[in-house]
Amino acid sequence: MAPAAKVEARMTGPLLAADGVTKRFGGFVALDRVDLSISAGERLGLIGPNGSGKSTLVNCISGTMRNDAGSLRFAGHDLRPLAPHRRIRLGIARSFQIPRPFASMTVLDNVCVPLLYAARHHDVIAEARALLAQVGLLARADARSGELTQVDMRKLELARAIASRPALLIADEAMAGLSPAEVDEVLAILLAMKERGVAVMMIEHIMRAVMRFSERVVVLVAGRKVADGPPDGVLRNPEVERAYLGH
Ligand code: ADP
Ligand code: MG
Repeated sequence: MAPAAKVEARMTGPLLAADGVTKRFGGFVALDRVDLSISAGERLGLIGPNGSGKSTLVNCISGTMRNDAGSLRFAGHDLRPLAPHRRIRLGIARSFQIPRPFASMTVLDNVCVPLLYAARHHDVIAEARALLAQVGLLARADARSGELTQVDMRKLELARAIASRPALLIADEAMAGLSPAEVDEVLAILLAMKERGVAVMMIEHIMRAVMRFSERVVVLVAGRKVADGPPDGVLRNPEVERAYLGH
């Protein structure tokens, strides 16, 4: 599946550009003037201790929260006025840290829902089955989603996100709680997105996965970006070491 044609046609500069993004909860500053860019097709790792603002940044990008200051642009569009569903149509998809499929529906039906919403497919069932094959879940198509193992739940969550044909896929801790072999399965799904031209922002604590996945790593600590660069250099950054070893 190609990314949304709209996005390709308008592409100059970065796919996503966050500039000075700030988010406060009462007097607490969860994101403090964060600058971040992602290029088309790039694989970006976003790391940081718990509570450093990673999911809040994802929420601001996907539109489930509004940033208080700063700007977010995606493929040349100002995201500020756009509701979450409009951002999905522009090509931003995310998986949630806590999977939330419709538990009583089958795996196949869960993937049909976003496809029907996109109203772009003549044969929704075939398309849904292709998506399940892409994430290695076709054999479970008729299972109830509520009965899935944790790793299969993660795969379903990714299939649902990919169904909107994103140009940017944001995976928020899609590997949490998985065994090393299961981590590799999810990693393979995310790595394969690159061949489809999809940029992926992976938020993850499992460093082995972050290092294998990322072309670039961004580090948030207490709402501030403290490092942004190639994985090796970032992990040798003293401020990053302090943030991790100090916790
Ligand atoms: P991370 O994903 O890096 O673990 P989060 O973005 O979830 O961190 O949270 C960053 C900080 O913002 C935390 O201190 C968290 O308690 C706070 N926070 C997140 N969402 C809310 C909210 N809806 N209301 C109040 N505080 C929040
Ligand atoms: Mg989080």
